[in-house]
Amino acid sequence: TESSQSYDVIVVGGGIAGYVAAIKASQLGFKAPCVEKRGTLGGTCLNVGCIPSKAMLNNSHLYHQTKHDIKARGIEVSDVTLNLPAMLKAKDKAVFNLTRGVEGLLKANKVDYIQGAASFLSPSLLSITPNQNQPSDNPFQISSSNIIIATGSEVAPFPGGAITIDEERIVSSTGALELKSVPKKMAVIGGGIIGLEMGSVWSRLGAEVTVIEYLGAIGGAGIDGEVAKQFQKTLTKQGLKFKLNAKVTSASSNGGDPISIYTEPSNGGAQDVLEADVVLVAVGRRPYTAGLGLEKIGVDLDSKGRVIIDDQFNTTVPGVRAIGDVIAGPMLAHKAEDEGIAVAEIIKKGHGHVNYEAIPSVVYTHPEVAWVGKNEEDLKKMGVSYKVGKFPFLANSRAKTNGETEGFVKFLTDKDTDKILGVHIIGPNAGEMIAEATLALEYGASAEDVARTSHAHPTLAEAFKEAAMAAYSKPIHF
Ligand code: FAD
Repeated sequence: TESSQSYDVIVVGGGIAGYVAAIKASQLGFKAPCVEKRGTLGGTCLNVGCIPSKAMLNNSHLYHQTKHDIKARGIEVSDVTLNLPAMLKAKDKAVFNLTRGVEGLLKANKVDYIQGAASFLSPSLLSITPNQNQPSDNPFQISSSNIIIATGSEVAPFPGGAITIDEERIVSSTGALELKSVPKKMAVIGGGIIGLEMGSVWSRLGAEVTVIEYLGAIGGAGIDGEVAKQFQKTLTKQGLKFKLNAKVTSASSNGGDPISIYTEPSNGGAQDVLEADVVLVAVGRRPYTAGLGLEKIGVDLDSKGRVIIDDQFNTTVPGVRAIGDVIAGPMLAHKAEDEGIAVAEIIKKGHGHVNYEAIPSVVYTHPEVAWVGKNEEDLKKMGVSYKVGKFPFLANSRAKTNGETEGFVKFLTDKDTDKILGVHIIGPNAGEMIAEATLALEYGASAEDVARTSHAHPTLAEAFKEAAMAAYSKPIHF
């Protein structure tokens, strides 16, 4: 319309998916603003997700290591004490610096940062309600024939409403990043990545943590069964307790009393009760499209509330595309980022690239767990004949030198062609090492390709190479 400012592309949402799409679109020559209502850029990941959780994981690990595992390394320190407010402040500083950093990136790339909430009036017209800190609170309109929905996800409430999150004693991951004191007992509902990461943090800081999981294994979707078992053993050794195959039915708290969490076996049976001072509800996340007005323009959602797209990120309404946590696929920052780049390229030149078969997953516990591609259970289900090549960190010189020998690297390869189908790692630096596996998978490498690639000595990555050797022929050091 005449009264609206018109753009080549408009991105709604300033999370990883959105700000990356806006930057890429601008780099490709488009006038492409990014609309964000949160007040800061970076979305879930930078504000209440990846970044603050990794700050707490890193520093709680240092604390725990200093307290329990440093004497044998020849370092004597007395009076190791936790200053939780300072640790939380360090986390907030990391978040502040990174969100401001994204603001700088938008500026450097000439992307307009529109601070407000967007709502569709038509497929090409958005109404913007400015954030409260903005000079004017008068709504205004912007228009484009290319609008990208990148509105992300939010914490999924406990199913059926039997437990209400108050972010004080019954918390989501957001509240679990802000606890004012270390709870004596903490219950974590959900043994997926977020539950295990936040459970580890508070366990290291002194809480007695019990993880309750509906399924028979921890680690969430995609984890290899053998890795999940080892992972549970490792975390149990660290002091976490697990209650698997258990369904939480309700939780009750009376004022200052401990919270009672009622469970029953997943497939029915007698009720059990568990007490905790803080309960973390980590049962997943759901797409977020509230207030966006999608119903007004006819953008269809699937049964889980995700925006339906085709293979070019087109929604059911021409000119409106969607990327990131708000569409199907793993809710991961790097997946959202890859889609941000691809969608801008598609608008510019008709094609973009995201390989959904090669998106790594990482659990940032200690040791880390990481994987990419298919796991053994997948391959069995698919009826693929495969080979397993495994190498334990116990036989890796660098792991031994560092005194961190837990875990292994596991290659799964096609039995006939030696092509890598999946790589699963539990062990030191697994999250960094999985990048090499992802590159190998992306390029269709065989285990022999990796086995014949020189890896520096002494590095943990040699365990990766030797696992490839084990899959292709035989390892040397085990
Ligand atoms: P979001 O980050 O959710 O961003 C969407 C943005 O859109 C929000 O800022 C929202 O305010 C804005 N918005 C919504 N509606 C409107 C509107 N109408 N107008 C204007 N703005 C709007 N992933 C990893 O890969 N690695 C990790 O280690 C990791 N750790 C995590 C830890 C935790 C505790 C959590 C909760 C998540 C973690 N994730 C991690 C997942 C990761 O945060 C998400 O995959 C990622 O943030 C998705 O990005 P997105 O841009 O699609 O959505």
